[in-house]
Amino acid sequence: MKVYNFSAGPAMLPEDVMKIAQAEFCDFKESGSGLIELSHRGKQFTEVIERAVANVKELMNISDDYDVMFIQGGASMQFAMLAMNLLNGKTADYADTGVWSNKAYKEAANLGNARIVCSSKADKYAYIPEFSSWEATPADAAYLHITSNNTVAGTQYRTFPKVDVPLIADMSSDIMSRVVNVNDFGMIYAGAQKNLGPSGMAVVIMRKDLQERTPANLPTMLKYSTYSENNSLYNTPPTFAIYLLALVTDWFKAQGGIAAIEKLNDAKADKLYGYLDSTDFYTTPVQKESRSRMNVVWRLPSEELDAQFVKEATAAGLTSLKGHRIVGGCRASIYNAMPMAGVDALIDFMREFEKRNG
Ligand SMILES: *Cc1c(COP(=O)(O)O)cnc(C)c1O
Repeated sequence: MKVYNFSAGPAMLPEDVMKIAQAEFCDFKESGSGLIELSHRGKQFTEVIERAVANVKELMNISDDYDVMFIQGGASMQFAMLAMNLLNGKTADYADTGVWSNKAYKEAANLGNARIVCSSKADKYAYIPEFSSWEATPADAAYLHITSNNTVAGTQYRTFPKVDVPLIADMSSDIMSRVVNVNDFGMIYAGAQKNLGPSGMAVVIMRKDLQERTPANLPTMLKYSTYSENNSLYNTPPTFAIYLLALVTDWFKAQGGIAAIEKLNDAKADKLYGYLDSTDFYTTPVQKESRSRMNVVWRLPSEELDAQFVKEATAAGLTSLKGHRIVGGCRASIYNAMPMAGVDALIDFMREFEKRNG
């Protein structure tokens, strides 16, 4: 049976990529060994990591003012690492738009001074607060932190706030899903497992001058300069994760790059929200202007029906549609690798389920 996996993360990867990885697993480029058996300093892996960095730079149109780094520990490690490197006695501002942004704020508040400048928590994070309602970020703030796509609540920034301090974005669940101007950011980071590859690794894109703020006494492995000066090869990096990221980004290029992918992502989201708007059986709590094009959340008329829906959908090959345990209901994550056919199959199933239970 054809399965469409709507998991929020780790999430489905392009089928073509999985097949290449499988074909090369035991014998990488006729080396006689698998890539995970090869030295991270050898010729084969050097080509892989250089390609991964070049692909990220090309796809996101990143200038030489920025480093692209691969760092272990996922996005959650970045919550602490960025505060350790960039607070430096100052106060950092945080937009509280979801459970992940709240966790990021807590890490910074634990390490130094952090302040929440806006929050939609009282409304279960159902929207991104209008920028005009945010407390102004002073010029001496360390940075302003946002979460560009809120994976759990299903909200997403359409535009980004403009501030005089470095804007830092957790883009874990929408990196490379749409065109962004990297120059608007001091730093962008993302756990790889939503859109770019396996879990356990973060991609960090950072303006080089920000590294001057790092306190000298930080542990070597927690300094950004360690990764930048050693091309993410200070110690043994997660070679297989970097390899898969190179393959996934090769695939993005073959799809025509991020602008082309964004177009398809918009079409997928428009179709799914269009269907949700056409029926009263399924309702989405997310405010229209804040709807995420990556994580679409909805609920049915009762929790029993939510559970029955998820169960029957799974049996029909539409998996991982259960909403996050904090919000309940259902969630379909439709990242870059989800084809339109998956969204069509989901809508067909939803229609048919409503007919039987509505
Ligand atoms: C998944 C996710 C994280 C956590 O990523 P880990 O790699 O598990 O630490 C952080 N932020 C956002 C927006 C996410 O979607």
